[in-house]
Amino acid sequence: MMQMPLLISSLVRHAARHSGDTEIVSKRVEGDMHRTTWAEVELRSRKLAQALQRLGHRSGDRIATMAWNGYRHLEIYYGSSGSQLICHTINPRLFPEQIAWIANDAADGALFFELNFLPLIEKLAAQLPTVKHFVLMTARAHMPAQTAIPNLLCYEELVEAEDGDYRWPSFDENTASSICYTSGTTGNPKGAVYSHRSSVLHAYAAALPDAMDCSAADVVLPVVPMFHVNAWGLPYAAALVGCKLVMPGPHLDGKSLYELFEQEKVSFSAGVPTVWLGLLTYAKTNALKFSTFKRTVIGGSACPPAMMKTLQDDFGVEVIHAWGMTELSPLGTLSKLKSKHASLPRDAQQKLLEKQGRAIYGIDMAIIDDDGRALPWDGAASGNLVVRGPWVIASYFGQSGQSPLLTVDGEPGWFPTGDVATIDADGFMQITDRSKDVIKSGGEWISSIDLENIAMAHPAVHEAAVIAARHPKWDERPLLVVVKKPDAQVTRDELLGFYEGRIAKWQIPDDVAFVAELPHTATGKIQKLKLREQFKEHRLP
Ligand code: ADP
Repeated sequence: MMQMPLLISSLVRHAARHSGDTEIVSKRVEGDMHRTTWAEVELRSRKLAQALQRLGHRSGDRIATMAWNGYRHLEIYYGSSGSQLICHTINPRLFPEQIAWIANDAADGALFFELNFLPLIEKLAAQLPTVKHFVLMTARAHMPAQTAIPNLLCYEELVEAEDGDYRWPSFDENTASSICYTSGTTGNPKGAVYSHRSSVLHAYAAALPDAMDCSAADVVLPVVPMFHVNAWGLPYAAALVGCKLVMPGPHLDGKSLYELFEQEKVSFSAGVPTVWLGLLTYAKTNALKFSTFKRTVIGGSACPPAMMKTLQDDFGVEVIHAWGMTELSPLGTLSKLKSKHASLPRDAQQKLLEKQGRAIYGIDMAIIDDDGRALPWDGAASGNLVVRGPWVIASYFGQSGQSPLLTVDGEPGWFPTGDVATIDADGFMQITDRSKDVIKSGGEWISSIDLENIAMAHPAVHEAAVIAARHPKWDERPLLVVVKKPDAQVTRDELLGFYEGRIAKWQIPDDVAFVAELPHTATGKIQKLKLREQFKEHRLP
C-alpha cells in the first residue's frame, strides 16, 4: 500500500476538492454574518501558511489563538498545523494570569486574537515575551487607531498579501499539530499535545454512525468552542465528511442560537449541558420548535436525564450522551443502542442512553480498584476509569520524563482519567463521579451526579450541584445547591421530599442551599472546587 501520512492538511484539501462549494457560515464578532466555502477556506489557509512562513515561523513553532468559533479560526487551524506549525488554542475565559502562564509555558511565537479581546491583550502583551507577532483577526477598517501592542498586525492584510501558490508539505504523521491546556482545576494547567495522526484518526472515529454520525448531508453547528479540545474534533470531522458548518462566534445566548439553528437549517450540534439550558429556556418561553435540528451530542459533564427527555419529547431532538476529556482529543465513549436493544421497552432503552456510553474503536477502557486490578464489567462494580488508544496522551507537554500512565493487570500504558465509573456487560460505561467530587459518607460513596440528575428533574429547578459538606459523624454528607427557575417556588423540604423513592434514603442530601447562580468553569462546567470553598462553613442541620 502507498505510504500516505495522515496529515491535517489532507482533511481541508479533501473538503475543498469534493465539497468546495459547501458553505461555512459565521456570525462574526464584528456583528454581521459572513459566508464562505470549503474551497475558499482552504485557499486562505494556504495563504495564511505563506504569511506565517514570511513572518519567520518555522516548523514546530506554536501559533496561539484566542478566538470564537468562526471561519478565520478554522483557517488558522489548517494554515498553522498544515504548514507544520502547532496550533495552540487558548481559552479566553480563563483568568488573565492563567492565560499568560499558559502562553509562556507553550512559548507561543504568535498570538491571533479577536476584536473583543483587544483590551485584554493590550494589558497582557508585556507579559508575553515569546510572542513575536500579535495578529488582530479582523479587516483594516476595524483596526484600532492607537494601541499599546507593539507592531499589531491585521489578519486580513496578512492573508490578502499572499498569492496562495503554496503546496501543503508532507511530513511524519506523528508530528505535533496542536496543543490544548486542561482547565487546571487542580494546580497549574497542563498541555495535551495532539499529533496529525491522532487528530485524523479521531476525526474518522468521530464521524462514525455510533459516534457523531456526520455526513455531507448535515449542517453542523458546533456550540462547543474551538478553544476547548478543538471543538471536540468537529472542525476536522466536518472537513472529512464535507458538511456545511455554522459558526456562532461569541453569540451563545438562547435567542441568538435559536435564530441561527433556524436560519441556517442546522441538523446537528454539540455542546456541554449548560448551553442547552439557555437555548431550551428561550424556546420554551416563546413556544418555539426546531424545524431542522435532529440530533445533538451532549458531554463534558453529565447530561441530566431531564434535559435529555425535554430535548427528545418536547423538541424531537435525539441526544447522544458522550464522555471524553482534553487528554483524549476528547472523544472516549458515546451512548448509542445496539441491535439487541431494539426490542427493549422504551424506559430500559432510555436508561442505557443516559449512560456515558460505549467506547468507539480506538479507545480501550477498564475500571480498576485502588491496587490496580481490573474490575468486572457487570454494571455494578465501580472503580477508577483508565483508557488507552492512539488519541490518548502518553505524557503532558514539557513533562515527557513524568509518565502519568499506569499498569493494569500487568499491562502497562493506561491513562488514569480521574473518573469513577461502572461498565456493564454490553460495554456501556457510566460515570458515577470525578474521584474528587465523590461524597464519602461514612465508609460509603455517594454519587453527586445521581443526586444532581434527580434535582434537575424537579420542575422548579433550573440548575443543581451537589457537593460534600463536612459532617461530624459521617465525615461528609451531600449538600444540594440549587438555582430556581425564574418565578418558581419550592422549599427545602419539598426538594428533599422529591428524593423519597427515587434513591436510597441514606443517600438523600442533608440540606439544600438556594443561590442566584452557580459558579462555572471557563468551559461551562459547574466549578465544584469553588462551590466547596463557598460552602466550607456550611452547617448541616
Ligand atoms: P477539564 O474540565 O479538566 O478541563 P475536560 O474538559 O477534559 O477537562 O473534562 C474532562 C472531564 O469532564 C472528565 O474526566 C469527566 O470528569 C467530565 N466529563 C466529561 N464528559 C462527561 C459526561 N458525559 N458525564 C460526566 N462527566 C463527564
